[in-house]
Amino acid sequence: MKPSSWLIRDVRFVEPGRRIASGDVLVRQGRITATGTIAPDVAGDAARVEGRGRLLTPGLIDVHTHGIGRNLYEGGATGLRSAVADLARFGVTTVLPTVIPFDRPETFALLKELTETLPQLTCVNLPGLHLEGPFMAVGGAACPTLPGNVDLLERLLTACHHRIAAMSVSPDTPGVLPVIHRLREKGIPVFLTHTRATAEQTEAALNAGATHATHFYDVFYAPAETDPGVRPVGAVEAILADPRASVDFIADGVHVHPTAIRAAVAAKGWAGVVLITDSNIGAGLPAGVYPTPWGFAIRVSPETAARHETKHSLAGSALTMDRGIANLLRWLSLPPEQVWAMGTLNPARLLGLDRKGRLEPGADADLVLWDDTLTAQMTWVNGNLVYEKEANLV
Ligand SMILES: [Zn+2]
Repeated sequence: MKPSSWLIRDVRFVEPGRRIASGDVLVRQGRITATGTIAPDVAGDAARVEGRGRLLTPGLIDVHTHGIGRNLYEGGATGLRSAVADLARFGVTTVLPTVIPFDRPETFALLKELTETLPQLTCVNLPGLHLEGPFMAVGGAACPTLPGNVDLLERLLTACHHRIAAMSVSPDTPGVLPVIHRLREKGIPVFLTHTRATAEQTEAALNAGATHATHFYDVFYAPAETDPGVRPVGAVEAILADPRASVDFIADGVHVHPTAIRAAVAAKGWAGVVLITDSNIGAGLPAGVYPTPWGFAIRVSPETAARHETKHSLAGSALTMDRGIANLLRWLSLPPEQVWAMGTLNPARLLGLDRKGRLEPGADADLVLWDDTLTAQMTWVNGNLVYEKEANLV
């Protein structure tokens, strides 16, 4: 039988946003029950792991990702199963499989199939899907651009058995405010993206209850210049200026310049910035050329993201959360516990998951033991060891 109690000894454990401390972590029945110096008699018969001073963090939480490895979450139950099975080795313990929905029967069948599969999967926490669209003002990445429509929203929610954990909309889509209101009534976080909105349109969306901007700066166009020489103000400025809104980034060094992330951190503070991957086929694979279902192959390398094999245009992100955190640790002059919060505590807060993204007594035991190169050695989800790179057990 697999152990359900764990004593993870001699680690540097990260309390996101607060501190990094040395000691032990005790896990029982899916929760963290103690941290610090833990006497052997307190641990009882818990399985032991010798951390040897390595880093232990809460598991990473990716709120925006379309696929990983050779699989897309949109690839039905099979694609979803295969994709989530890949996550633990990158230190991810909670994920929102992200789907681009259309108003057509295939979408409704897919949403039904995916959300009926979610409860069967235990290797990662799956609070629900992230629907990226369809109420968007600007296309890009094959997104539909439909006006806000509460009836269509209800049909999407029903198809998903109400397992939607976030929805992305554009503030400049006609009729979007009633959609935002309805989502907030249901407690679903609303993200803003794919936009050319004015500051006023963006403020209206934030006032209606949107709380976050996803792949910030990417597909965020400034409105047209009206007075030559006067810089137009749009969604980017309205979101940076509003302390209610958090932002997330694809921290691969290609989709967003590190300086732009530093500017957002200066405006928002560490607690207002979230790491995502927006990953697709190719993420986590070695450099090479890989087939896709889109009629072309992609070339993946860590330096260039995923690109069309022959046209060389960007074809999505190949980032994994572990590399994203490693990049942010290098780019941001912040205490590391604040950078770790961007992949743990901050996304948990965004989703309203009170026991996730923390490493303290009472929190869910979603944990990752890392080596010095920030490669996951062991990953636990709700106290269950779901991944082990090599035998660490004593
Ligand atoms: Zn996306």
